Amino acid sequence: MPSAVSASPVWRRPVSPIPERFAEGDVDLAVIGAGYQGLSTALHAARSGLSVQVIEAGAIGNGASGVNGGQVIPGLKQDPETLIGQFGEAAGRRLIAFSAGTADAVFDLIARDALDVEHRRNGWIQAAHSETALQAAVQRNRQWRAEGADVALLNRADIALLTGAEGYRGGFIDRRAGVVNPLALVHELARVATEAGTALVCNDPATSLRADGSLWRVDTRSGRSIRARKVLVATNAYSDGLVADLAESLVWMHSFQIATEPLSPEFEIILPSGQAVSDSRRIIVYYRRSPDGRLVLGGRGPMRPPRSAGDWLHLERALHRLFPMLSRVPIAHRWFGRVAITADHLPHLHEPRPGLLMAVGCQGRGIGLMVALGEPLARYVASGNPDDLPLPITPLRAIPLHRFRRLGVAAHIAWYRLLDGLER
Ligand SMILES: Cc1cc2nc3c(=O)[nH]c(=O)nc-3n(C[C@H](O)[C@H](O)[C@H](O)COP(=O)(O)OP(=O)(O)OC[C@H]3O[C@@H](n4cnc5c(N)ncnc54)[C@H](O)[C@@H]3O)c2cc1C
Repeated sequence: MPSAVSASPVWRRPVSPIPERFAEGDVDLAVIGAGYQGLSTALHAARSGLSVQVIEAGAIGNGASGVNGGQVIPGLKQDPETLIGQFGEAAGRRLIAFSAGTADAVFDLIARDALDVEHRRNGWIQAAHSETALQAAVQRNRQWRAEGADVALLNRADIALLTGAEGYRGGFIDRRAGVVNPLALVHELARVATEAGTALVCNDPATSLRADGSLWRVDTRSGRSIRARKVLVATNAYSDGLVADLAESLVWMHSFQIATEPLSPEFEIILPSGQAVSDSRRIIVYYRRSPDGRLVLGGRGPMRPPRSAGDWLHLERALHRLFPMLSRVPIAHRWFGRVAITADHLPHLHEPRPGLLMAVGCQGRGIGLMVALGEPLARYVASGNPDDLPLPITPLRAIPLHRFRRLGVAAHIAWYRLLDGLER
């Protein structure tokens, strides 16, 4: 029985200092929340000449951006044909083109701005454990190939060689994807955003947000106050009551992760080319190698905060099912964070009142999405033209009976886990 609960992720934080500053006078854009979304928007807005203030409740990387699995996967949960069916030809094509380029946005930024972020772009594997999952991979592969994407199907032998894992029938590889050190990415985004002129303060939550004439006024816990022409509430799964109905417009779930000790050379058959992998089970597990050679594996956790290391045991069981050879390798880190899920599993853009913007709902795939969204969001802040956005702006609505929805999700997870267990 494992004993330690370590809330700290395994990721290295760059040492470069991030200067903090509070802007004097009114600004064009106030951003609440310094994750990928807030910082990428701030970076692009500042580079286009806007004055920007970012306000963060904790340290940089306090939210999902500092604790995630670092798998940079393009696309959305929905495949291209589903998006066209849902949005129609023109809007669907725009969304497909945007979502196809989200991993490019991350890797291009790292290269162009010489970010100190460990990364490797060798693809993402969706590993199929059943015949149904294999058929889904065939469909996904067909649809993305039709869009010209660098994707391919994997047979049983290919996937065994690429993952070193037991029990897969085949799968799908998306070579546009890769892995990054997620904490370094958010830290470096903060660095370049401040170098571009963004004012940033940390450890000072925004506590109120209200209209002030034609501007917006944001007050913080420490008594600071700023007026802005527009506000981006970039708090996503960590949204509180700052904007009515925002936290209730989504369901957040916990994603838990474990990391082994760095693996010795005898384990080189595990992900020898460094791909990221997601399982096809109903309760997904995802895994990768870390820059220092550990195996990092994540998946759903309890809806409540963890009480002991036993709350990560289901992940240890998944690890040992996939890689029995790791059964004697100690788990060195355990941590968790929140993932924002929307009712339709799509990201949502809202502007409940003119100049008050927000984007939520990454369904656990927000690195590429939120980094890429920064540029169109910044353009929209400057232009006010919705055509600058890859997604329509939709009304902000609380999910009916939100509290019960969370209980329903917990019951669903337990049920899916049981079904996954029966399929083994
Ligand atoms: C464990 C885990 C694993 C994941 N793995 C992956 C993965 O491998 N690949 C992938 O693509 N995605 C993954 N995700 C999802 C991804 O991390 C998120 O989609 C993404 O980081 C969201 O970025 P964000 O900027 O929108 O939100 P966040 O990074 O959550 O930032 C929100 C910020 O708002 C701040 N905030 C909240 N309230 C206030 C306030 N009142 N005032 C000021 N600041 C406030 C918070 O402190 C936080 O820093 C994972 C998520 C988790 C939790």
